[in-house]
Amino acid sequence: MRNTRKRSIPVLMLTLAFFAGLIYFTLNLVTHASEWASMPYNGHLSDSSGLEYAGKIKDRNGVVLAYSKKGKRLYNEDEELRRACLHVVGDDSVNISTAVQTMYRSKLSGYDFVFGLGVPDRLKKGGDITLTIDSEVQRAALRALGDYRGAVVVYNYKTREILCLASTPTYDPMNKPEDIETNEAYEGAYLNRAISATYAPGSTFKLITAEAALEKDSEAYKREYDCSGSTEIGGKAINCYEVSGHIDMFGALRESCNAYFAELTVDLGKDRMTDQAQKCGFGKRWKFDGIETARSVYDVSQANDNEFAWSGVGQYTVLECPMNMAIRTSAIANGGVSVTPKLISKMDSSLADGMTPDDNSSPERMMSSQTAEKMKEMMDDTVANYYGKSYLSDELDVCAKTGTAEISDDGTAHAWVTGFTTDEDCPLVFAVLVERGNSGYKVAIPVASAVLSAAARSYRS
Ligand SMILES: [Zn+2]
Repeated sequence: MRNTRKRSIPVLMLTLAFFAGLIYFTLNLVTHASEWASMPYNGHLSDSSGLEYAGKIKDRNGVVLAYSKKGKRLYNEDEELRRACLHVVGDDSVNISTAVQTMYRSKLSGYDFVFGLGVPDRLKKGGDITLTIDSEVQRAALRALGDYRGAVVVYNYKTREILCLASTPTYDPMNKPEDIETNEAYEGAYLNRAISATYAPGSTFKLITAEAALEKDSEAYKREYDCSGSTEIGGKAINCYEVSGHIDMFGALRESCNAYFAELTVDLGKDRMTDQAQKCGFGKRWKFDGIETARSVYDVSQANDNEFAWSGVGQYTVLECPMNMAIRTSAIANGGVSVTPKLISKMDSSLADGMTPDDNSSPERMMSSQTAEKMKEMMDDTVANYYGKSYLSDELDVCAKTGTAEISDDGTAHAWVTGFTTDEDCPLVFAVLVERGNSGYKVAIPVASAVLSAAARSYRS
């Protein structure tokens, strides 16, 4: 008897472990099955299977971007529009991981818990998704980027709606190029650069350095400096693009004085700089409508004095995702609190099952309202007295800051501009990146300008 009981204990433990495992597996299956079913490594989804009966994807004006007919997945008849919307809509494959057709594949195709993806056709309930984007604004971004690789993000900081989320290079989902894997022109074509890539932010990071200073001392904008075109920090030079002479913070931001912001960075110290960068999204991934952004990086723990000084002007090892830049700029436009965007405007109720508010990152205070107001004044001044208001837009009132981030010693640089409009009927925040564009002012601003014009037409027509 005693022996039997002794032996039964391990058996009981094994039985308990088995049931615990079973419960764990079942819970996971219930909560994650539809995700697993549409994972890229699920080979049978690498073709269009699952999309033959899927619902429509439409833009904000009801323009149909993707639909299914007679067991085939089809896209808008306009080839340029197909290419302009590729990274948002997706193609028949699941290569573009952040595309709606990849993210919501199981829902669009009518995934069912009992049948999996093998739902009998008569029971399929694929529904439609309406996006917040305007396909004509996407088209304007594609045309403005031309042969450059780059990314454009534009969204409404009051309603959160993304009007434009464009990335190049792109391709036609109905005629996918055969040499896409080998032709250099298509390098990274599966990547939505606005969401999934990071780049040195260059001078656009001076906004964060200015914020850190204003958060410490609200009078910091009065700080004066004599720029001789260069300064020495940690035994090595920090050079400016021009000699600015006697300036305060307004002048330093306007003329993008490296020496001013490098000295300011050193005075603020690593803790304050790191703290403000983290408040502005560095080190985290944003999440909206189930889509996750790449993580932006600000890590000065190993930086020497000179490297740390460079970090404050967006060089050194600083990397930023274009979407993060738009989100941190939204905080300046919105009284210090960030606005997380959204891409999906409407979803058939059968698709919305299982969506939770957790799918979106919540708003975060990135700076005091007082700091945000001062930043707004400085970005307004930068456009009014340096770039030229009409150079950015004739129809919208734009506040902005450019960046030209050097990526190699031969002067090759990524071009950036980020900013926002103050128009009540068209409150937009934006970030534009042009890879190897070499000048934020000459190359990134015209892209932003063209896209903002299209956005104004979209809202005002
Ligand atoms: Zn300078």
